[in-house]
Amino acid sequence: MASYRSVTVYCSSSNDIDASYVEAARSLGRLFAQKHVQLVNGGGSVGLMGEMARSVHESGGRVVGVIPLALKKIEGRAYEASDEMILTETMRDRKKIMYERGDGYVALAGGYGTLEEFLEVLTLRKLGYHDKSIVLLNTNGFYDELLSFFDKMTDSGFADKPASTFFTEVSRPEDVLKALGVGE
Ligand code: AMP
Repeated sequence: MASYRSVTVYCSSSNDIDASYVEAARSLGRLFAQKHVQLVNGGGSVGLMGEMARSVHESGGRVVGVIPLALKKIEGRAYEASDEMILTETMRDRKKIMYERGDGYVALAGGYGTLEEFLEVLTLRKLGYHDKSIVLLNTNGFYDELLSFFDKMTDSGFADKPASTFFTEVSRPEDVLKALGVGE
């Protein structure tokens, strides 16, 4: 079997979003499969998580889903086709395993959950807990206001280095893997 490098992807659990975000997630899924990069995600079948996982599989790739047992039971919205499904006790355990299993991290458009996950790996990198690559896929400028806010944090002295020190912003799915430096 091919040896996969693993990349953890944080993204929306909402389906009620513009088709352009779906297309970006699906394109990235195809690229992961083509480059033999294993997808690690939150294990949901919903939103961009599900779209990307299905796209990875349609192109012959591999998916690892990490999901709390309660979420799986209550919502019944786990991506059951995952090649590996890791069930955790808590949300914290889930985030820890997603963090540990990734050789790099990508955030696509998303809500509070995505933002929390992205900021955690960013903060851990800032504090020197890891030096893995982090990529923000800024589809349609979705994160422009957040990037401006990061500038404000630096300008006001709350952050000692520009946010761009810790992650790479790209606007196209085609640029994600290169920015991660994996799967080439
Ligand atoms: P959000 O951006 O608020 O939609 O949350 C999505 C992120 O939080 C994903 O990267 C997941 O890791 C996690 N998450 C939130 N809701 C779910 C769900 N229903 N199933 C699986 N993961 C979820």
